[in-house]
Amino acid sequence: MTEPIQVRGVRGLPLIHAGDDVAALICEREPVEDGDILCVASTIYSKSKGYSKSLKDITPSERAIRLGGLNGEDPRFVQAVLDASTDIIMEHPFILSELSFGHVGVRAGVDQSNIEDGMVIFLPPEPMNAAEELRKRIFEISKKQVGTIITDTCGRSFRRGQTGNAIGWSGMTAIRDFRGDTDLFGHVLKITEEAVVDEIAGFANLVMGESNNGVPAVIFRHIPSWTGHDNLYFSGDEDITRRVLKKEWK
Ligand code: GDP
Ligand code: MN
Ligand code: MN
Repeated sequence: MTEPIQVRGVRGLPLIHAGDDVAALICEREPVEDGDILCVASTIYSKSKGYSKSLKDITPSERAIRLGGLNGEDPRFVQAVLDASTDIIMEHPFILSELSFGHVGVRAGVDQSNIEDGMVIFLPPEPMNAAEELRKRIFEISKKQVGTIITDTCGRSFRRGQTGNAIGWSGMTAIRDFRGDTDLFGHVLKITEEAVVDEIAGFANLVMGESNNGVPAVIFRHIPSWTGHDNLYFSGDEDITRRVLKKEWK
């Protein structure tokens, strides 16, 4: 018998500051069980680690000044985006870039929302390690084996609207691999890989909301386990969209 999936936002968390123990704050408010999946907004993980900066401490380079003018953005904010990026794919009408861990995102995922005026928040530089650290800390506190996903709200190609994406995960594989399975008619599936961590992050993002909800963590219970692999990010030339965009913008 499979139990219905449960989804619960963790309410009552305080504003997070550098040094806060996010896993402990969550466990104090919501009990976890073995097999649960906990999604944590990258914003609060980054705040807890101090991955933020004051705009007044940033000196923009010539490129940041030029792109700030081009895109109508504060050159210091643009500098933060450039600093967080390892490869600029597109400069205008917004910066689209790659981060060291393989994620491609608008403005490198640098946010100015849900933090004090004049501050920017960076994505965690190593979100896979971040997810693992949270998973281990939760086990330490609760003795429960919980999978963890670090989420961020991201735009996407081809469709309007933002959705939640997984940028780091631990205790599960990113992708459920259906290759070799047969469909309802007995056809062998050749290419079907399901990005399960993004599907879960998308639902978590719905529960979190974007503005002043104050729900930066969501717990899923009774999601059946899966097997697969972790190659969520395209490497180099695999990504056709990126190849075309770079040609266009060079
Ligand atoms: P992102 O998607 O990771 O960039 O994060 P968002 O800024 O969209 O925030 C996701 C959710 O977390 C929203 O419900 C916010 O109101 C909430 N949130 C953000 N920062 C904090 C915080 O420091 N404390 C609490 N309790 N909630 C926060
Ligand atoms: Mn964000
Ligand atoms: Mn968000």
